[in-house]
Amino acid sequence: MKKIVKHDQDVIKQHNKLMILDIIKKQRPISRAEITKITGMSATSIGRFVSELCEEGVIRETELTSSGVGRKAIMLDIEPGAIYTIGVDIEKKRINFGIMDFSETVIVYHRIDYQSQKANPEETAELICREIRGLIDREGIPYEKVIGVGVGVPGVIDYENGIVQLSTTFGWKGVAFADLIERELRIKTVIDNDLKVKILSEYLYGSAKGSNKTALIGIGTGIGSALIINGEVFRGGSNSAGELGHTTLDPNGNLCECGKRGCLQTYVDENSLILEARRVADISDVRQVFAAARNNERWAKEIVSRTALYIGITINNIVCMYNPDTVILSGELVENYREIVDLVEQHSEQVIWEPFKGKFKVIPSELRGDAIVMGAGALAMQHFAPLAGSWA
Ligand SMILES: [Zn+2]
Repeated sequence: MKKIVKHDQDVIKQHNKLMILDIIKKQRPISRAEITKITGMSATSIGRFVSELCEEGVIRETELTSSGVGRKAIMLDIEPGAIYTIGVDIEKKRINFGIMDFSETVIVYHRIDYQSQKANPEETAELICREIRGLIDREGIPYEKVIGVGVGVPGVIDYENGIVQLSTTFGWKGVAFADLIERELRIKTVIDNDLKVKILSEYLYGSAKGSNKTALIGIGTGIGSALIINGEVFRGGSNSAGELGHTTLDPNGNLCECGKRGCLQTYVDENSLILEARRVADISDVRQVFAAARNNERWAKEIVSRTALYIGITINNIVCMYNPDTVILSGELVENYREIVDLVEQHSEQVIWEPFKGKFKVIPSELRGDAIVMGAGALAMQHFAPLAGSWA
């Protein structure tokens, strides 16, 4: 779509039309006069593009709104029902879905229990497609208006080619997952690493709104991070920037699932917490450790505090490397046990390097469980909206 043919007026026209649509979407509601001012184009051209977009059902005129002294102007807004995307979040034990409209509002959520860890990718894709079809049907949305599907997957994702290179969570390797969904649904599909989708979501709709440089740390089974710089997700060479779970803290430390010793993951994730707890108590899950800590049992408080300390150290390392203005803490461990955020704060005096103290804020994820569905919907919107419909 990017090729510009010299003197091709159609291409220029198309470009201008998309630009106007983009302005309306970002600054809605907005008047024709304001668009004329922003673009420097003639009022006649703007008028022509606007009526075309209205006719195509992409934008609409809203009620008269007062602008300035005694003047009324017709404002333009996008038509929320013009197109839709589907956001999908595959977790270990659940799959979450959402339908996002053109105004980027998730109009309906849907969740199902599913043991993704034990499932093969084909079965998983099949189930996702079935659920998506059902959801579109139930909501009475015309199928052709759904222009894209976005999926967040934990693991190393070849985002450009839609391939799950490695997901240790699900045991998938080299799976062309986007293709599996796209072929079945006949809807364009984009997949990305779950934390990259999550940070996009927090940046667009949540705790990182207005931040220029945000880091997000996800802690659950495993630990990872993502970074957004000036509105763009930082991907690195192969979309793996932020995979800090396997950075080495101690070459003589505990054996990690990756085969190396002393990876960060062996100090902070849920499994490490359980393993540590089992040295002193008969424990089967994280909940019991936190329950014991809340009960003032010393061993449990020490383990939780140690985890918070290592989260603090991770924050310091990320801050030293990237100097973000905001660090978002997310993931099951942080979202289910908020006391850990307070403990991280207590440790920060000790672990954050002096020049960075007070120069950034640490905040828990605002969108929590919905973040990936919203981000995946937005990702599909960013990818496919300009290509959809007759206006492109
Ligand atoms: Zn490792």
